[in-house]
Amino acid sequence: MEFVITIDGPAASGKSSVIRGLSKLFSIPWVSTGAFYRGLAYAAIELKIDLDDKEKLTELAMSDVWRVEMTPEKTLVWFKDTDVTEKIGHESVGNAASRISHYPEVRSSLLDHQRQCAFKDKGLVAEGRDCGTVVFPQAEVKVYLTASSEHRAQRRAQELGMDEKELVIQQKQRDQQDSTRKVAPLQIPKDALVVDTTQMTLN
Ligand code: C5P
Repeated sequence: MEFVITIDGPAASGKSSVIRGLSKLFSIPWVSTGAFYRGLAYAAIELKIDLDDKEKLTELAMSDVWRVEMTPEKTLVWFKDTDVTEKIGHESVGNAASRISHYPEVRSSLLDHQRQCAFKDKGLVAEGRDCGTVVFPQAEVKVYLTASSEHRAQRRAQELGMDEKELVIQQKQRDQQDSTRKVAPLQIPKDALVVDTTQMTLN
């Protein structure tokens, strides 16, 4: 089995920044599994598919009209051969991703694609909500990153150029949805190292 490190945690807890650093340090590829949910949500919005229509969403999850590509800098999302990575970064797409991510059928149709990111012999650092619990339960190292909600909103507000107060509200709602869904909720994997990054620098 490949060497896999997982990092789970709530929105804007620093997962993407940490994972990029780890990937460089160990010279192994990385993936943001949120890109799968954001990419699907984005494609559904563009194709005017109802975000409550789980059959159509499941079909779309398996369609090649959109795809995820791993690169050393970013997890890219392509829709109809256009790079939409910047667009899926918007909080509105994050909220739509959270809305569709509670359907078990949608989750299971994205699961294989996520697992395939762990190339043989190369290993992988994967971040998301259920990487250590569902996608890679056999991972060698599991980390759960967290930070205060104000701190997380502050970070994301700077990154997206958005109002911090509005982000605190949206992120709390998204975290609540992600932690309380029945299938693969955001939770601390049993064997994870928990790190609160509120008072920490990236290094
Ligand atoms: O991590 P990111 O903010 O890109 O994730 C967007 C949304 O995708 C999350 O709020 C969550 O609902 C969903 N997601 C998930 N499982 C993952 C990664 C993301 O349900 N492993």
